[in-house]
Amino acid sequence: MAAHSRPRIAVMTSGGDAQGMNAALRAVVRTALSSGADVFAIYEGYKGMVSGGDYIRKMEWGDVGGILQRGGTVIGTARSLEFRERGGRLQAARNLIEHEIDKLVVIGGDGSLTGANLFRQEWNSLLAELVETGIVEKAMAERHPALSMVGMVGSIDNDMFGTDMTIGADTALHRITEALDAIASTAASHQRTFVVEVMGRNCGYLALMSAIAGGADWVLIPEMPPEKEHWEQQMCDVLEGGRKAGRRDSIVIVAEGARDWSGNPITVEHVQRVLEERLGEDTRVTILGHVQRGGAPSAFDRTMSTQLGHAAVRTLLDDAPSEEPLLIGIHENRVTKTPLMHCVEQTHAVADAIQQHDYERAMDLRGSSFRDTFRILRTLTRVLPHPPRPGQRRLRLAILHGGGPAPGMNTVVRVAVRLGIDQGHLVFGVRNGFQGLMDGDMIEMDWMSVSGWATMGGAELGVSRKVPTNQDLDTIAQRLAEYQIDGLMMIGGWSGYQSTYRLHSMRLCYPALDIPIICLPATINNNLPGSELSIGADTALNSIVLAVDKIKQSAVASRRCFVVEVMGRECGYLALMGGLATGAERVYLPEHGIRLSTLQSDLENLIQGFRSGKRLGLLIRNERANALYTSSFICALLEEEGGNLFDVRQSVLGHIQQGGDPTPFDRILATRLAARGLEFLIEKAGSRVSESAFVGLRSGKVQFFDLGRLPEMIDEKHRRPREQWWLNFVPIAQLMAHPDRP
Ligand code: ADP
Repeated sequence: MAAHSRPRIAVMTSGGDAQGMNAALRAVVRTALSSGADVFAIYEGYKGMVSGGDYIRKMEWGDVGGILQRGGTVIGTARSLEFRERGGRLQAARNLIEHEIDKLVVIGGDGSLTGANLFRQEWNSLLAELVETGIVEKAMAERHPALSMVGMVGSIDNDMFGTDMTIGADTALHRITEALDAIASTAASHQRTFVVEVMGRNCGYLALMSAIAGGADWVLIPEMPPEKEHWEQQMCDVLEGGRKAGRRDSIVIVAEGARDWSGNPITVEHVQRVLEERLGEDTRVTILGHVQRGGAPSAFDRTMSTQLGHAAVRTLLDDAPSEEPLLIGIHENRVTKTPLMHCVEQTHAVADAIQQHDYERAMDLRGSSFRDTFRILRTLTRVLPHPPRPGQRRLRLAILHGGGPAPGMNTVVRVAVRLGIDQGHLVFGVRNGFQGLMDGDMIEMDWMSVSGWATMGGAELGVSRKVPTNQDLDTIAQRLAEYQIDGLMMIGGWSGYQSTYRLHSMRLCYPALDIPIICLPATINNNLPGSELSIGADTALNSIVLAVDKIKQSAVASRRCFVVEVMGRECGYLALMGGLATGAERVYLPEHGIRLSTLQSDLENLIQGFRSGKRLGLLIRNERANALYTSSFICALLEEEGGNLFDVRQSVLGHIQQGGDPTPFDRILATRLAARGLEFLIEKAGSRVSESAFVGLRSGKVQFFDLGRLPEMIDEKHRRPREQWWLNFVPIAQLMAHPDRP
């Protein structure tokens, strides 16, 4: 057989299926092709690698079209006993070498990745045996002296060291959260208690995060068992306390691997029995099971997997062959490469620590944000109205929104109100933003006033885009003095940040304004400084993705091009990430504007595409990408120039992007920022320090920025932050859309 000059890569999915595997597969195939490599898919995991033949198929650009929105994996996955034996792996080596494949991308769990590493280590000896038995020519074996390999973790459990998120975990959280929301409404109607079991093997990630997202009352996870003694009584006390405070639904979440301090499994049945016997409550059990694996992948699973798949191929093709195979993961919002076997070892170390009842170590291995979230949840579940502690000043804190509504705003208010009341402070809710503040439209919030807000979209306190003028500050100062407000929490977007900055900069003129202020980023536009993501952006992105999935489906039978207009004001985040997650062939961003030459080349691409059999075109345009080249203009242009070849439809998604219940990610972000933001406010107000800040998530960590730094961190004219990390995705989005446009 002749030697192939192009590199040859194979990609496979193995182990449990996970949503987002298809996006990773698509990215691997398209990145390989546009890098001049040949790429093969191995169907049915190691079973296919051992069987060979039709299980190993060369992939072309179009073979991975239309799969982004599909759950599971389109190339199948299977368990293979044969691959666990050397004989099976010998067969697998023969099948790869026949195709001259010596680069491998494996998407699977720790079992699959361990198997791949073993295979890689044995590669030489397997080839030697194949040469010796005359199955493979010596020259052929010599051309492929090593098997390079990279791994990506596909697992809904988020149980792997070396990546902050595994492919599929975010979507599983979506499914769990949807189920919990449904359960909560029936539980509240009947004043029932539900005990819900979620998946995760040795990992409590899904249980912990869904407990935060669902506003659950108690959670049991493998890494940190409940108190050594009498945990059942403690759980009952907390649930009873909640009932006394007026709570109608009670939910306990149990991770499937939950255990007590002695290592005995804690089952849902046990929890149910305890609650029925001790509280006399009607208690129901729900085991979510495989529902958690179902459904379409979330926006995050699509964009992250695309990013990882792209990086996997670039690593195989660009990097010098590494001694060790690498795991391509994500850490602090950036792609990382970590020695694979180190990751597998550390993953097993967590399981071992749990087995040896060394729970502190298990928590350490999970990382600081896991621990931080656990601490917040623990505090939240124990929170109840309390009188102020002896000798402690009772602070008067006000909470308000600024800017448009964003899903997750209510979640923040609930956490801040309850944590504030728990510490004995008074918390006032200001209705309708800064306008309400001027009107003195405030009410004292009590513990039950935010009941059910953890999961509720919209903004119950009301919003307004009013930015106070210098004249208004007089009135605001009067109101703050009247209510003796010691600290202010603003949860909102651009105009909210502007308003608080104005208050802060005039604090020396008005004593009542000389109080600490904390701003929390909440806007679907994701256009705020100091935070890579704002509360609400993930929900809006998922709404866009769901809507575009449906729009695409509506066109299966016709040759049609859609121009979809999304929100974002002067920030292209939603447009770009929406395009990446739905496979748009062109995204128009305000950061780059629109040129006539771009429109012309897009038109030519469409004409060419439809001529060669394409059925669907998708262009996503940010609402402010260009003032004159509007969505209607682009539609008219394409319609006219496309002639009979295709027709064009416009879809302006509008306010569905601001609505909807917050996604799990937004609820968790809201909870973390609310807890940390309130801590800041209480600390500063308690010590009468008028320091003010905006808080956000940067590199996966909660960070505070002095409010005085706002002007230097923004591009005032375009109303967006100077730093826009996600613009790094532009080349990947372009590459995924067109082979010839690197
Ligand atoms: P996961 O990858 O999700 O952890 P499994 O542990 O079931 O799932 O592994 C999937 C497949 O990977 C197995 O069916 C087997 O073929 C292969 N595999 C797993 N562990 C090994 C191993 N130690 N050696 C060889 N192959 C393995």
